[in-house]
Amino acid sequence: MPMFVDTSPPGQCIFCRLVANEIPSAKVFEDELTVAFMDIGQVTPGHVLVATQRHAATLLDTTPEEAAAVMRTAHRVARAVQAAFQPPGLTLLQANGALGGQTVAHFHLHVVPRHEGDGIALTWPRQEPPSAVLASHAERLRAAL
Ligand code: 5GP
Ligand code: ZN
Repeated sequence: MPMFVDTSPPGQCIFCRLVANEIPSAKVFEDELTVAFMDIGQVTPGHVLVATQRHAATLLDTTPEEAAAVMRTAHRVARAVQAAFQPPGLTLLQANGALGGQTVAHFHLHVVPRHEGDGIALTWPRQEPPSAVLASHAERLRAAL
């Protein structure tokens, strides 16, 4: 679980204040639905966050249009990051809920340049269940779509 989670109400969270220019930030790009700005933590040089203009806590609170717009902006920003910083790798990361690793409860996507030995780690404990389990999970999801 993250050490600090900002769950301020809509309009009062850190990113709402940043969107409204109530706190300083290094903005990179803005359009009707999204805003891109430098992550204050700069895990690697060129680390950008792409957020919704509107306060939506998680992916599940965004509209399909907002979710698509964030990816469109991330695509554009990723190309700019590649051109400007030329990292050998690039990772997109999007966290939802404290248990998902989200610390600011205003929807955002990280665009992170990657380098050898950059210290970023995500453990990924593979389970590899039998195919019948995969089929059962897929059935549950098809029914929920
Ligand atoms: P999360 O952990 O929710 O996926 O990511 C939140 C990110 O927001 C962190 O990487 C953190 O560095 C960044 N952040 C937190 N507060 C501020 C701020 O006031 N300004 C900017 N630019 N980034 C912030
Ligand atoms: Zn907000």
